[in-house]
Amino acid sequence: MSAPDIKSAACGSSVAAPIRERGQHEVFCGLTSIIWLHRKMQDAFFLIVGSRTCAHLMQSAAGVMIFAEPRFGTAIIEERDLAGMADMNDELDQVVERLLSRRPDIKMLVLVGSCPSEVIKLDLDRAAQRLNKVHAPDRRVLSYSGSGIETTFTQGEDNFLTALVRDMPEKSETAPASLLVVGSMADIAEDQFTRIFSSLGLENVAFLPARRSTELASIGPDTKYILTQPYLGATVTELERKGATRIEAPMPLGEEGTTLWLRAIADTFDVQQDKFDAITGPGRERAKKALTHYREQLEGRRVFLFPDSQLEPAIARFLHREMGAEIVEIGTPFLHRKITQPEFDLLPDSVAVSEGQDVDKQIERCRAENPDLIVCGMGLGNPFEAEGRSTKWSIELVFSPIHGYDQAGDLAELFARPLGRRAVLEVAV
Ligand code: SF4
Repeated sequence: MSAPDIKSAACGSSVAAPIRERGQHEVFCGLTSIIWLHRKMQDAFFLIVGSRTCAHLMQSAAGVMIFAEPRFGTAIIEERDLAGMADMNDELDQVVERLLSRRPDIKMLVLVGSCPSEVIKLDLDRAAQRLNKVHAPDRRVLSYSGSGIETTFTQGEDNFLTALVRDMPEKSETAPASLLVVGSMADIAEDQFTRIFSSLGLENVAFLPARRSTELASIGPDTKYILTQPYLGATVTELERKGATRIEAPMPLGEEGTTLWLRAIADTFDVQQDKFDAITGPGRERAKKALTHYREQLEGRRVFLFPDSQLEPAIARFLHREMGAEIVEIGTPFLHRKITQPEFDLLPDSVAVSEGQDVDKQIERCRAENPDLIVCGMGLGNPFEAEGRSTKWSIELVFSPIHGYDQAGDLAELFARPLGRRAVLEVAV
C-alpha cells in the first residue's frame, strides 16, 4: 500500500480571492483555551488576571471542577483597582506569593491577560519578569494574552505556545536533528504518534506543549517542526525566528490527512517508502474501515462552515475528500495562507472561502444556501437549530481526540451525529 501523494491528490488551489469581512463576529475569547491547555500541561497553573465575567466564563465553560486542586483560577480586578486606588502589581505579587506557597506542585505559573487587564494596560510581561526574579528557577512564570479583543478562542493556545517557544533553551551545535510536533493533541493521539515515530526509527521527537513544563525541548537550526493545529501563526513566526524549519503538510485529520502528514515527516528524515507503508498500513486500514461507516451519512451532504476554531479549512478538506461532502463555504477567522495551503491544494477551486466575519451577512448567505449541516460557534448553533437546521459546534473539535488514524472514525461521527439526530426528530414529528 502506498501513501497518497499531495501533488497527485490535488484538485486545485482555491483561496485566491476570499471574501474578506470585518464586521460583528461571534466567537469565544482566548481564555477558553485554558480549558484544554491546563489538562495538557500537568504542572502548570493558569492565573487569569481579569474580571468576574472572565471568572464566570471559565467556570461555566469548564463545567464542574473535578480536580482536588484546580489548575486555573482568576485574580479578580476589582473596582478600586480600576479606579487606581490600589497598586495592581503589588496585589498581583501577593496573590502569586499566596498561591505558590500553598501549591508546591505548580512548576510553571502562567499569567493570562484579559480584556480588562489590557484596557487598564497592566503589563503582564513585566510582571512575569519581576516574579521570575523571585521564583525562578524552581518555578517559572510566563505570560500571554487571552483577551477577547479582536481574537478568537484558539489564539489563546497560539499565544501560550509562542510564550513557551520564547522560553525554550537553545540547542547545542552538536545535538542531532530533531522533530518538534507543535499543537495540543489528546494524550491518546500523542501516544499513538509516539509509537509510530519510534517504529519509523525517529529518535529525537518532542511535543509542544510538553506534558510537564520541565520537559521543554531545546530548539535550533536542526529542529524540524510540524503543526498538528492550523491556528498557530504566531508560534510559527517565533519558531522560525529561533531557526527551526517547518515541515509542510495537511493537518493529521482523517486517514488521508494523517498519512500525508506522516509521509511529510518520513520524507524529511529519509524513511524508505516500503518501511513507511509497512508501519502505517494497519492504521490506514483501521481508519478507512471506521470512516466507511459514516461516509454513507455524509456523502453528498452540503456543509457550510462559519469562522470559529480556525480548523475550518482542515475540516472542510476532511469532509470533502474522505466523506464525500460538498463544501458550500469555508469561513475562517484568519487565513494563515502558508499553513493552510496544503489543505486548499486538496479542495476544489469552486469552494467559497471567507476570512473574518460580518455575522448577519454570513447568516443570510447560509440561509440562502440552505446547507444540510452548519459547523459554527455555540452562539449561532441554537438559533439555527430552532430554525430546523442541523449544526455542529466547532468548539467540540478542540475538546475531542480527533488526530490520527484511530480517531478518524470519531472525527467523522462528530459530523454524522447531528444529521442522524435530525433524521430521528423528523421521523418522531
Ligand atoms: S477576556 Fe474579555 S471576552 Fe473573555 S471573558 Fe474576559 S472580558 Fe469577556
